[in-house]
Amino acid sequence: MRVMLKECACESLGDELIVVHDPREAFTLADPGGRIAALLDELGRGPATAEELSAALTARGFAASVEDVRDGLDGLDRLGLVENAAERWLGEPDADERHFSNLTFFGSFAGMHTSRAEFVRRLRGSHVLVLGAGGGGSALVQCLAGLGVGALTLVDRDDIAPRNFARQFLYRSTDIGRSKVDRAAEWVREYDPGIEVRAVDRWISGPEDLKDLTEDVHLVAGGLDGAPDANLWVNEAALRAGVPLVAGGMTRTQLIYFSVDPGKSACLRCDESDLPNPDERTSAGVAHRLTRGLRLANGLTGPMAMQVGSLVAYEVLRYLTGIEPPRAAGCRVILDLRNGLIPTWEPFPHDPDCPACALARR
Ligand SMILES: [Zn+2]
Repeated sequence: MRVMLKECACESLGDELIVVHDPREAFTLADPGGRIAALLDELGRGPATAEELSAALTARGFAASVEDVRDGLDGLDRLGLVENAAERWLGEPDADERHFSNLTFFGSFAGMHTSRAEFVRRLRGSHVLVLGAGGGGSALVQCLAGLGVGALTLVDRDDIAPRNFARQFLYRSTDIGRSKVDRAAEWVREYDPGIEVRAVDRWISGPEDLKDLTEDVHLVAGGLDGAPDANLWVNEAALRAGVPLVAGGMTRTQLIYFSVDPGKSACLRCDESDLPNPDERTSAGVAHRLTRGLRLANGLTGPMAMQVGSLVAYEVLRYLTGIEPPRAAGCRVILDLRNGLIPTWEPFPHDPDCPACALARR
């Protein structure tokens, strides 16, 4: 493997070497003999193999075996300073240009063993089921298309209406009256013909309506309006299929997103386990029943819809690529615009007897 140094700057200071790659942090490495500085200097000349680096360092008076160099490169890899030179790009000129910013973004997460190109390939090889092409959903579809997720199945039963225009930027005034998913699928095809997209114009009225849709998908994203139990049906369908679920929504000025990692995190049904019984004549029981039945008019405006869609899309990105662990697995992450978007985490309680989680264990 030819190893390449990422953009970084370093300077020796006595027996130490100060290295900066990410402007948010500087590393201070013990380097009394100057060997690490010499290794970084050699890497700075261009991609090289451990054998070539060993020869170059030895010629400079640093007796460094190939094994020594490999150990040094592993250390630099752990610090996120080097990557596999051959895999910085996909090697397809058009796709490299199309994914230029995605590949550059993945440069922050790439190393000798997982490359920028590999992260993009993981997205291109993924199939996501998107439930809802409304407020958060239309922003989510745009984010997933930009990331280059290879296949999307879009589900919604609504038609495009004038009141959608505060927040649903997939649609044009000439689309009023058309099926949302048909237009959303058309948008994706026009945006990137390389993405396989399927439109399912279907009303979901129970978990059975989701069964065929979760076959062959890697993840379920988005949420369903309508029935109060709709999110529980989606939760159950995703657990049965053994794929992660990422969803979001909003209340007043709050943005909310959560995810369920099957077999690993608590789920939405677990979250119900410590709620008051809605049939109980106690103040908590009655309040819960009233809250659940509350039908709020949709006040999700453009800047909020875009943020919900992008928070969900970023969590989807974590699951599909593994760049970092999911941040909302088994909990609701709540950000309120009123207090400047400071996040709070509300973990779902883990219910060991949860019937939905049992589906994931089968
Ligand atoms: Zn559960």
